[in-house]
Amino acid sequence: MKVISTIKELRAELSKERQEGKTIGLIPTMGYFHQGHLELMRRAREECAVVVVSLYVNPTQFAPSEDFESYPRDFERDKRLAENVGVDYLFCPSNAEMYLSDHLTYVEVEKITNKLCGASRPHHFKGVTTVVANLFNIVKPDKAYVGQKDAQQVVVIRKMVKDLNFDLEIVVVPTAREEDGLAMSSRNTYLSAVEREEALVLSKSLQHAKELIDSGERIAQKIKEEMQKLIKSKPHVNLEYISICDNKTLEELSRIEGETLIALAAKAGKARLIDNIVIRV
Ligand code: AMP
Repeated sequence: MKVISTIKELRAELSKERQEGKTIGLIPTMGYFHQGHLELMRRAREECAVVVVSLYVNPTQFAPSEDFESYPRDFERDKRLAENVGVDYLFCPSNAEMYLSDHLTYVEVEKITNKLCGASRPHHFKGVTTVVANLFNIVKPDKAYVGQKDAQQVVVIRKMVKDLNFDLEIVVVPTAREEDGLAMSSRNTYLSAVEREEALVLSKSLQHAKELIDSGERIAQKIKEEMQKLIKSKPHVNLEYISICDNKTLEELSRIEGETLIALAAKAGKARLIDNIVIRV
């Protein structure tokens, strides 16, 4: 595995690979790898001749009040894990490499970025789409791998790719979970023992929603109330939102129908946690 920190060097390597007709897969990440990240890498390894992982904690997707400074980082461990999965290139650019000192250009997807997580993180997705568009232009991948764990991010990136005609395929990989069901996240490391235990209510409430739907419930409000009841019983978990919405437009649904996204966000101590399920009825 080659560790590369400049755009120039990465482009030189990848243009050789491309000339040999090899397909390139990209996994954009912020590092501190867990099995979720590794699943994306494994999937890319199966499907692409060349696998590029970017490891960059992107400052523009964090608000000043958020955890950019304290975001967990462990480069040596990440390097070892990526190498073990068979990643070819680990791209770790500096801030100066990704944002020129006179940088003025941002990529912004409208409307669908104001809902769900966008309601409390108004600049977050603009940061995400800007860095992801930049990475797509640097790497020019045939396929880019993203996790269903970040459901709104999937919808927003897909929209950007469609609207701006990025010539690549987005591959969505299912959410990797701990054995008890908690969605894996680099931010889980912030949880105290009691917060970790209570955070389990998030995936449980989604499972409960699925059971209600399986048994015939279709009224979104009823399902939300049941989920809220469960989550409220855990004092260390502060619910931010539950959304039951169309999985493409992110429009709230009053009745469950079609491809429905049930997504939530909550805070447990310092950690902001998200989780979701997609249900087809
Ligand atoms: P991050 O490093 O948190 O920006 O995540 C990098 C990529 O890994 C994104 O596409 C995430 O959606 C994906 N990812 C993060 N956690 C999980 C998980 N538990 N399961 C599947 N994919 C994940």
